[in-house]
Amino acid sequence: MLGLMQDHPLLISGLIVHAERHHPTQEVVSRRVEGDIHRTTYAAIAHRSRQLAQALDRLGIAAGERVATLAWNGYRHLELYYGVSGSGRVLHTLNPRLHPEQLAWIINHADDRLLFVDATFLPLIKAVAPHCPQLKAVVLLADAAPGDALPLPLLAYETLLAAESGDYRWPSFDERTASSLCYTSGTTGNPKGVLYSHRSSLLHTFAAALPDSLSCSARDVILPVVPMFHVNAWGLPYVGPMVGAKMVLPGPGLDGKSLYELFESEGVTLSAGVPTVWQGLLAHVDAEGKKFSTMRRTVVGGSACPPAMKARFENDYGVEVVHAWGMTEISPLGTVSSLKSSHAQLPASARFDLQAKQGRVVFGVDMRIVDPQGKEIAWDGSTSGELQVRGPWIVSQYFRLDAPAPLVDGWFPTGDAATIDAEGYMQITDRIKDVVKSGGEWISSIDVENVAMSHPDVASAACIGAVHPKWDERPVLLYVAKAGKSPTPEAILAHYEGRVAKWQIPDMAIAVEALPLGATGKVLKNKLRDTYGRFLVDGAPTNPATPARST
Ligand code: ADP
Repeated sequence: MLGLMQDHPLLISGLIVHAERHHPTQEVVSRRVEGDIHRTTYAAIAHRSRQLAQALDRLGIAAGERVATLAWNGYRHLELYYGVSGSGRVLHTLNPRLHPEQLAWIINHADDRLLFVDATFLPLIKAVAPHCPQLKAVVLLADAAPGDALPLPLLAYETLLAAESGDYRWPSFDERTASSLCYTSGTTGNPKGVLYSHRSSLLHTFAAALPDSLSCSARDVILPVVPMFHVNAWGLPYVGPMVGAKMVLPGPGLDGKSLYELFESEGVTLSAGVPTVWQGLLAHVDAEGKKFSTMRRTVVGGSACPPAMKARFENDYGVEVVHAWGMTEISPLGTVSSLKSSHAQLPASARFDLQAKQGRVVFGVDMRIVDPQGKEIAWDGSTSGELQVRGPWIVSQYFRLDAPAPLVDGWFPTGDAATIDAEGYMQITDRIKDVVKSGGEWISSIDVENVAMSHPDVASAACIGAVHPKWDERPVLLYVAKAGKSPTPEAILAHYEGRVAKWQIPDMAIAVEALPLGATGKVLKNKLRDTYGRFLVDGAPTNPATPARST
């Protein structure tokens, strides 16, 4: 039809082309594996991404083939984001915290052809690579590579790039072409691959940058703590070049001290990560009596942000917490907790409570909650049901999984239980399989944990449903004390009095040294159930071989 707009495909290469043209001198700062600080610009990243694309041509990697990474957040990883996807290959970001056997399984399932690794992970690759026969070579993200470290060719990234001119035109192709691949972290069974397209990634990037989403601009200095191997660092490696923000990439140093130093030295304004990372940061600034001089906002997601953590950030440090919900299958952005103008009149405590929810959808995502029969539930803010979502950056089918599409009438069932209030604010009450089913009533493990976390001496907490002879399951709380504190189980349980209904108070609180964390920093509740799931019956940790409730 005459008069329509130009038909430019939405391609990931477009982001780095834009950054090179309009923000060429904007900085990308990385803490390298070696510990030093590396500084570069979008112009240099763009040039080196093109060199990388040429190197992939030379290595004979065809369009659509998978190129994997096992790397921290750093400038070379950013170049891979653009060089691999931009040239039409598929970037497969692997999670190095997975077990070697699981990694080999994923590499083989994805049929990865090349693997780019940080030096930190060379020992891991020595264990994994022999089990991955279709890998052509491993590329070390370094100046040089040791000769005979692996049973397959080990190349050096800088040598590969140095052989190329960077005189390369990004190819144009259908925006529905695959761009990148991420496997779910496997907390709910075998990892499943989610294949993103250029179109889904670009639309997601626009949505993520919006003021009521992550709110990113050219004036921001963005430090993604969330790893670039965890759902594309929630889209931030794309958002940065799109808006022209300075990027600060922390490498392997994710402890409170290293992060704090980087926040301060680079003037970071915006960050994003899972609650466990922020616990470490808050413990550090608390202990050292530090303040943030530039940090304005942090996005917390991946698991529920305890209101106590939000309050500490906001009241003690003046850092706004933006609570967000998402998952690998939805790229990951689903909802964000930002207020509407009508909320300006609310008392501060009501605004706080609203923002402590997981929030409302960004345009592009639609959601609903359904009962066990699949019937839609009203948005009354209290009735919970399974959360379902749909939209252009939500999975339709898992990658190479010989199973029916997971969709129900076009909606993706998330496995999360949630309420939605009349204004469209969603609150995750629990993962459906983590809900404690006590005598026909459901107790939200998140609610139980949030109360424990509001105790001044508790650093972290997890609640599981333990088998109970009368009630089927009853809540058992595992808690980790803050450094130098040792609250008793009785004191923790007393803290629940008046804060929740009596029947929601855990039957038992158990102090533990640490909670088991999965590959993306989330508490492994299935592991806790294996150990403590029969505590109320047997009165002692269970033999791990006889799990109380399978997952
Ligand atoms: P996995 O499901 O393998 O852990 P994801 O990283 O994709 O991998 O996790 C998505 C899940 O994380 C969601 O389904 C939800 O249960 C949980 N989640 C993410 N963000 C939040 C949040 N803000 N509050 C509560 N749960 C969250």
